[in-house]
Amino acid sequence: MSKTKMSIKNLDLFYGDFQALKNINLDIEENKITALIGPSGCGKSTFLKTLNRMNDLVEGVKIKGNVQLEGKNIYKNVDVIKLRKRVGMVFQKPNPFPMSIYDNVAYGPRAHGVKKKSTLDEIVEKSLKRGALWDEVKDRLKKNALGLSGGQQQRLCIARALAVEPEVLLMDEPTSALDPIATGRIEELAKELKNHYTIVMVTHSMQQAGRISDNTAFFLLGELIEYGSTKKIFSNPDNQKTEDYITGRFG
Ligand code: ADP
Ligand code: MG
Repeated sequence: MSKTKMSIKNLDLFYGDFQALKNINLDIEENKITALIGPSGCGKSTFLKTLNRMNDLVEGVKIKGNVQLEGKNIYKNVDVIKLRKRVGMVFQKPNPFPMSIYDNVAYGPRAHGVKKKSTLDEIVEKSLKRGALWDEVKDRLKKNALGLSGGQQQRLCIARALAVEPEVLLMDEPTSALDPIATGRIEELAKELKNHYTIVMVTHSMQQAGRISDNTAFFLLGELIEYGSTKKIFSNPDNQKTEDYITGRFG
């Protein structure tokens, strides 16, 4: 086991009276890809969003238990803006801002107070390189980001997330809107990025989880059924429900 980056303890989440997460306990390892799998509606996105308090934005949400980032509860006495700088997020549908490629990547650093042009230039270049997009866009940084292809837009969103130097990157089905080639590039990128960041990725594709993740968590109806190394989950799971799911018997 490598170092624990985030630790989730006895986590319950309610949307009003509906309990969407039931007593979740899980440790996320640093510099690994953790995949969250399970049928639609089982709570994957809800769980992912508890890791940087994105659910705080939903009305009527109640959360019990705690989520620790390097041993510190993120639900207690924490500046949420700073938390989201440390724990960044990439969504299902690429959502670049309607502005230039450069301004998309510079957006976060500017919001956090970086003003100097040369510093911003460096951050933009470094982030686009990390996002495996630099070579494709370096000659058109001032062009509107909405002119990029879907796969390029998603890599831009990854670069934008990286520009504020997060420690953890949350990705919610980041390839579900992409074609197989663009998907492959994002998967390769994720494998490279885990050397620098801790990645937690929701995927509805078990093949994808098997290809890229180190650890897999299987959710069903708001419960964490099984969590372990991806190898074990996919070859020799302990729980019959996991076995049924990965062999395609339901979901
Ligand atoms: P998944 O990502 O695994 O498909 P979600 O986390 O989106 O699942 O949803 C888990 C459950 O919580 C579902 O039953 C869904 O209908 C419910 N849910 C999700 N978001 C909300 C919300 N904002 N208000 C009420 N219920 C919600
Ligand atoms: Mg979801």
